Amino acid sequence: TAAATEEPIKPTVNIEHTQLLIDGKFVNAASGKTFPTLDPRTGEVITHVAEGDAEDVNRAVSAARKAFDLGPWPRMTAYERSRILLRFADLIEKHNDEIAALETWDNGKPYEQSAQIEIPMLVRLFRYYAGWADKIHGLTVPADGPYHVQTLHEPIGVAGQIIPWNFPLLMFAWKVGPALACGNTIVLKTAEQTPLSALYVAKLLHEAGVPDGVLNILSGFGPTAGAALASHMDVDKLAFTGSTDTGKIVLELAARSNLKPVTLELGGKSPFIVCEDADVDQAVEQAHFALFFNQGQCCCAGSRTFVHERVYDEFIEKAKARALKRSVGDPFKGGIEQGPQIDSEQFEKILKYIRSGVESGATLETGGDRLGNKGFYIKPTVFSNVQDNMSIAKDEIFGPVQSILKFRDLEEVIKRANNTRYGLAAGVYTKSLDTANILTRSLRAGTVWINCFDTFDAAIPFGGYKMSGIGREKGIYSLNNYLQVKAVVTPLQNPTW
Ligand code: ADP
Repeated sequence: TAAATEEPIKPTVNIEHTQLLIDGKFVNAASGKTFPTLDPRTGEVITHVAEGDAEDVNRAVSAARKAFDLGPWPRMTAYERSRILLRFADLIEKHNDEIAALETWDNGKPYEQSAQIEIPMLVRLFRYYAGWADKIHGLTVPADGPYHVQTLHEPIGVAGQIIPWNFPLLMFAWKVGPALACGNTIVLKTAEQTPLSALYVAKLLHEAGVPDGVLNILSGFGPTAGAALASHMDVDKLAFTGSTDTGKIVLELAARSNLKPVTLELGGKSPFIVCEDADVDQAVEQAHFALFFNQGQCCCAGSRTFVHERVYDEFIEKAKARALKRSVGDPFKGGIEQGPQIDSEQFEKILKYIRSGVESGATLETGGDRLGNKGFYIKPTVFSNVQDNMSIAKDEIFGPVQSILKFRDLEEVIKRANNTRYGLAAGVYTKSLDTANILTRSLRAGTVWINCFDTFDAAIPFGGYKMSGIGREKGIYSLNNYLQVKAVVTPLQNPTW
């Protein structure tokens, strides 16, 4: 606990890019405005970045339009595009540690997690999409008559992409990877809390040989730059990851402007179900990981831990002990599992939920308060005796707060687990194949992890049921988001068909 109050460790990376990236060049915002990005360890300013707004969105969209309509990118061979993406992945790999340091500095996540898991995953994602680039093709379709019918799978055009702050670079890759593999051009707005790492890697993409205007990056705020992008008449497709409330806004902006198709990856309140036959030690560890990973700032966090009554008491005791053991402190220090929350707004919101949990009668097993007196650190918090109608069991807290609920039988837990407006993910712990199968088929969620959690392979599709979103990212499913299907029909003159 002392770690949170010690002097912050100095990151070993220089910040090179703070401007907007438009048409292959780093430029100031048209307004000349900038805004600060903060270090979550201290709340102090790291640097100031250019603040993009509607006029910059216009400039970026016209650069992307030109690169799509006239540029080489959609016209070059898919093999060439694939090779550029592979070179990009190599460059990310080469600069792994600097990129990881930038990510941790701006976001607060443990450096070891950035350097050993997330940046390597970024490399893997771009290699995965490089592999798709030259394997995208249409079909030959049998028709009732003397016609030759084929489909062309064409890039959709200019993609607008809006990403959040919890996994700045992974969200970048989930969006940019499939869009580029399919031959689109992009205007991407980063989250205002974490603008730095995307600018760094975008520079590497240009070094890898991507033509100017193919990827444009705007730092800026949601209601200004984000809204201008979502409502732009010359953006052909919009992809958004963020809160459900903002998802509704961007969907409406897209509909009111040019009806651009929209994919949304939104909030969640995912159940993690520990059955009576589960290995309790393993279940405790995975349930802990499912909730506390990334400071609890995951849209798919296992934030409702349902535990069978027969193992409930043992589970509570062990979950509490595990939370007490969690090492929280300066994310640049070795062995740290949890850094600070992203900013004061999230920090205050989480503390408010903790107070509401106590007031509504849940049992605070451990944690419940800030850690240290500087930055946005929160003690790993565990509530037991949580009831379905409490707001800590219904709302997305997005912080290190585990809510444990007791259940008696499968039918009951299925009903309760599904009794939410969300449907992003679910975790199940059981040794019974039958129980696993029943739960897998009954849970209304885009991902069901059995005896594991947060497995994020590039090939595994991810997305939500209900108000957790529209569409799927990653895997083969993500390509459809960035393709148009054109049916081409030609008559067969001398029918030998
Ligand atoms: P959070 O509450 O976690 O910050 P948001 O959904 O507000 O989540 O933010 C996710 C992304 O959406 C960020 O890039 C943010 O700037 C952007 N955003 C926020 N409000 C709007 C808006 N009105 N229009 C477009 N984008 C927005």
